[in-house]
Amino acid sequence: MRGLFVVLAIQVLLGVGLLAAVATDNLPFGGDGDGEAGAAAPVPRPTVDRFDGDAAYASVMRQVALGPRPAGSAASRKLARRIRRALPRGRFQPVPGGLRNVIGVVGGRNPRRIVVVGAHYDTKDIEGFVGANDGASGTAVLTQLARRVKPRRFRSTVVFIAFDGEESPAGSPPERFEQDGLRGSKVAAPGYRRARAMILLDFVGQTGLRLRREQLSDPALWVRLRAAAGRAGVGRVFPAGTQGPIVDDHVPFLNAGVPSIDLIDFSYPCFHRTCDNLSQISSRSLDAVGEAMMELLPTL
Ligand SMILES: [Zn+2]
Repeated sequence: MRGLFVVLAIQVLLGVGLLAAVATDNLPFGGDGDGEAGAAAPVPRPTVDRFDGDAAYASVMRQVALGPRPAGSAASRKLARRIRRALPRGRFQPVPGGLRNVIGVVGGRNPRRIVVVGAHYDTKDIEGFVGANDGASGTAVLTQLARRVKPRRFRSTVVFIAFDGEESPAGSPPERFEQDGLRGSKVAAPGYRRARAMILLDFVGQTGLRLRREQLSDPALWVRLRAAAGRAGVGRVFPAGTQGPIVDDHVPFLNAGVPSIDLIDFSYPCFHRTCDNLSQISSRSLDAVGEAMMELLPTL
């Protein structure tokens, strides 16, 4: 996911006049906007239990233990093999540059009715950067969801895609993110033009998680997600209001005509900083997202 500078660049390109306001909204240092500056607001305990937040936390730990995992690195390739084993019917999809998406499928009652759940598993190529939130958190929720969704339980078939190469290669400037990054999702998206929905899990693990609709994300699908979260008892994690726009792996799916949403709490002080480590991660946050997803998926 590209940073503030590209947000600004795109605002300029779009000629949006609210530059200052939008920039402020995008600042990763801005707190969670609930007027609870400082201490992170607690994430509520869900009223349902279809997802294992502690298992997702353990998955984040195992990914972080591999160290930095930039696309194409030995650590990233090792993680890809683990993800392939974790996903039902797991397979690799080649991505230019020797990269690989990992795709798994859980068949629904209607094999032609497809919902895509995605997350990127590579980490930003920064010395000492382990991407506990930016990379590992979404991947952890993705693989744990894939364990919990059972064949023919839902009407839709759920396709789980762990994207490689979301981050742009080392040396690529932020303003070239949309061209140079999103490498795996650009390869995957054209194959799912007829999907009913695409849900991207990105920064979903930080303490005090608050997910507002990212401005490119499909409003109707976001309404359904918020309703599902409310039924799961974690509505507070999905407040009203918007953030962004944020160019991320859902954009190639939007471009392919698929209603898509990005779950990303961009008010994250450790964005592309080495403090994006396990100390930032809460199993409660991962659990809230997983439970909301388990409530949403059967409705799609
Ligand atoms: Zn990133």
